[in-house]
Amino acid sequence: MAEAGIIDGKAVAARVREQLKTDVAEFTARTGIQPGLATVLVGGDPASEVYVASKRKMSVAAGMADLHQHLPEDATQAEVEGLLGQLAANHAVSGILLQLPVPAHLDAAALIELIPFEKDVDGLTTMSVGLLAQGKPGLRPCTPSGVIELLDAYDVPVEGARVVVIGRSELVGRPVAQLLVNRNATVTIAHSRTKNLADVCREADIIVAAVGVKGLVTGEFVKPGATVIDVGIHRGPEGLSGDADFASVSEVASLVTPVPGGVGPMTIAMLLANTLRAAELQYALAD
Ligand code: NAP
Repeated sequence: MAEAGIIDGKAVAARVREQLKTDVAEFTARTGIQPGLATVLVGGDPASEVYVASKRKMSVAAGMADLHQHLPEDATQAEVEGLLGQLAANHAVSGILLQLPVPAHLDAAALIELIPFEKDVDGLTTMSVGLLAQGKPGLRPCTPSGVIELLDAYDVPVEGARVVVIGRSELVGRPVAQLLVNRNATVTIAHSRTKNLADVCREADIIVAAVGVKGLVTGEFVKPGATVIDVGIHRGPEGLSGDADFASVSEVASLVTPVPGGVGPMTIAMLLANTLRAAELQYALAD
């Protein structure tokens, strides 16, 4: 069988960001409101600093206001709560993103719940999760939305497709499964207790791997002609790799995302899309 086509997440993310620039300019011209993203970083975790820096840079490039907030490592729960309360009440703030993980002495779950659903650009509050589960309009988690955007960009049929999502985390597995169900796919959620995982996966037209186990999904898991979306990110001496074994999967699949350059670049692009959507939602609610 011919080698699988490669889903170019970098190119799709660049197109999404380009389109957003136009959409943000149009929204601002129409409403007089510049969408603003408040990233909130507590402490100095080096990886988080890098992520936050690129979120800020790309939001500015899309024409949004950078309303970044930085609190020291020893900030108390009450201090972070106070800041989130101010951002929630501030009309200049369209989206609030609490960068995770927060330092261990803080209760992250309680902090997330202080973000109003219409500013919840990470889509992680109980309210946003409920809206997604009910299929009602709301802000969706960024990486799962990026997976859907990639499938759409490559015209992969989702309606009626059999999909196996490997992983049931709040961040990726559960929301991506919900998004796919809302798009009329027939979805199986596999996890660490799933029996005969390879057999379950071989039923799928689309496999979404969000497992956190390097190279778990091999060619043996893949039905000939299926699409494999690899959400995993693993850092090793040879650089980044994913939850799928790219070489063996490519021999069987028709389309596959590489790591890096697949799902990864989509996450920030979808965060920016959510920030504009949040600004639109707030504008509509204020009407
Ligand atoms: P997570 O919270 O650790 O969840 C992993 C899920 O995989 C769990 O549901 C677990 O099952 C399941 N699992 C673990 N080992 C398994 C196995 N051997 N067979 C079947 N299922 C297994 O991870 P996550 O936050 O969802 O992230 C998953 C991966 O995506 C990680 O590599 C992470 O770095 C990456 N990621 C990438 C992006 C991006 O922007 N591309 C964003 C977020 C995460 P149980 O529930 O039974 O424990």
